[in-house]
Amino acid sequence: MEIKYHGKQMSCVITRRKMKNMRVRVKDDGIIYVSAPHDVPDSFIRRFLLEHAAELAEMTEKAVMQRAAANDHSDGSQHHWLGGRITLRWLDAPRPATLENNVLSLFARSQEEAETAFRQWKIAECIALCKELNREVYHAYHSKGYAVPLAHIQIKEMTSRWGSCTPSTGRLSINFRLMQYPKECIYGVFCHEYAHFLHQDHSSAFYEALISVFPEYRQWDAVLKAPLR
Ligand SMILES: [Zn+2]
Repeated sequence: MEIKYHGKQMSCVITRRKMKNMRVRVKDDGIIYVSAPHDVPDSFIRRFLLEHAAELAEMTEKAVMQRAAANDHSDGSQHHWLGGRITLRWLDAPRPATLENNVLSLFARSQEEAETAFRQWKIAECIALCKELNREVYHAYHSKGYAVPLAHIQIKEMTSRWGSCTPSTGRLSINFRLMQYPKECIYGVFCHEYAHFLHQDHSSAFYEALISVFPEYRQWDAVLKAPLR
């Protein structure tokens, strides 16, 4: 479905689900995603979107600009990193990337080289942090008397979830995109996925274990649900 606001065309993807209330989200691709119950007619969805067109136009524009900014790896470009922002500084001599005072200095002579060097640095940092958090969360569960296994961590780029747990193989998948968020958020995702070793659902027993290990879980989980600032 397409809707128009002041000449600006907006694309909407509608998914029908077994659900009570309609849900509208703008993702970072600048597309409006609508989940709606089966009995809500398209005409109702269109009317609802048109009523909120000003707001949606602003959100889609912001999403597109943010994506463009994230793809900019020029000297001086800024990037989200662990809940803050870092600035890329291009070095003209081949030296390992170093982070100091929120400035990441890396060797680059082009956008492509900067992007590659930045990505390699981010992956190395992500692996190191996941290793650290994995041990930390494993010990946190054991100190509360929960006999969880030490997980095998797989880092993945995912679009719709922050992590997943496969108890049968002892494997946790962690979304690489989490590296943009504060460390406490990533710790919370580890705690959440580890709790699935104990309970495969999101029952009250699941949350009881999770909250006992990380009492501030809900506060940091809320940060992951809000747009990046
Ligand atoms: Zn879960």
